[in-house]
Amino acid sequence: MRYSCYSCGKKYPLTEKIFRCSCGSFLEIENSDMFPEKALENSDRTIWRYREAFGLPRDLVPVSLGEGHSPLIKKKIDGTDLYLKLDFLQPTGSFKDRGASLLISLVKHLGITVVIEDSSGNAGAAIAAYSAAANINCRVFVPGYTPDGKLMQMKFYNAEVVKIPGKRQDANDAAIEASGNTYYASHLWNPIFPLGFKSTAYELWEDLGRKLPALVIIPLGSGGNVEGIYLGFKSLIQAGLAHRMPWLIGIQAEKCSPIHTAFIHGLDDSAEIEVETTVAEGIAVQRPPRAKAVLKALRECGGFTLSVSEEEILSAARSLFSIGIFAEPTSAAALAGWRKLKPHDKRDAVLILTGSGLKETNKLSKIFTA
Ligand SMILES: [Zn+2]
Repeated sequence: MRYSCYSCGKKYPLTEKIFRCSCGSFLEIENSDMFPEKALENSDRTIWRYREAFGLPRDLVPVSLGEGHSPLIKKKIDGTDLYLKLDFLQPTGSFKDRGASLLISLVKHLGITVVIEDSSGNAGAAIAAYSAAANINCRVFVPGYTPDGKLMQMKFYNAEVVKIPGKRQDANDAAIEASGNTYYASHLWNPIFPLGFKSTAYELWEDLGRKLPALVIIPLGSGGNVEGIYLGFKSLIQAGLAHRMPWLIGIQAEKCSPIHTAFIHGLDDSAEIEVETTVAEGIAVQRPPRAKAVLKALRECGGFTLSVSEEEILSAARSLFSIGIFAEPTSAAALAGWRKLKPHDKRDAVLILTGSGLKETNKLSKIFTA
């Protein structure tokens, strides 16, 4: 297993403590779309059930908190049946645990003792938790608007939290500048992180009776979830275990939609656009570094992007609450996007609900009781 540059093709061993290529581009993992059937022999009920499909060093000891295998439930919303993947039911309350478990396991394996991350909340909490589990020091740069619940969670995991005023991008720039000689354990840049979301694809395939869904709707910020789920589905098809690639549909907030703008204009990288603060702060990433790979994945599977307004996101959040599902507004963006599909595409779609509303009760009470 090696790093391979997406742009120039330069290779690096996994032992290199890098997060991007010397040419400035993001990296990929070689052969990251493979699925050895051996991956199903494992009886583990975490993402590590599929460890053979991650291609990590054989002697790597997983740093695990029981992540993965979130429930897939069938519900009727607006009179139509659909599936909800409750991926906020993870150790730290978000889907990011899948990526964090993989990345911090590798960090531990390499003997690294200090990591830096930047996040609007969920990824920071996940990296902080797994760092705590691995006895690694963790420093997280967060934008000023990060909800208190997520901030406190990082602090309780003993992470050093550095608030950077301004936009999400400013926290990203500050983290890269500060990373210097320490390891930048970036969920935005590092190609190990999205590999964790291959496990989501495998769980869907197993839970649906070893069949793939027709379409999967995913809140879209940096795009790691899209990239990883795409790789997971692709690997099942290449292994002859499934046939038709599902459409992946990425949902962005209208107020921060660099990938959606790129998609509709036929660009191969994220669009340079002005962004505003959105209630879906988990998908507010102005310059997603891996956007080229995300756009390629969306196009290769025949999928597309949609953008949703603040009102549509909040209305979707209310709908989820009203059926007993306390997901954060970022997750509700998936439902808001689903509502925009043609009626025959809606049926039996899978929505990935990525983050828990429990971290955002202060924010939500201000919005809904104002
Ligand atoms: Zn390169």
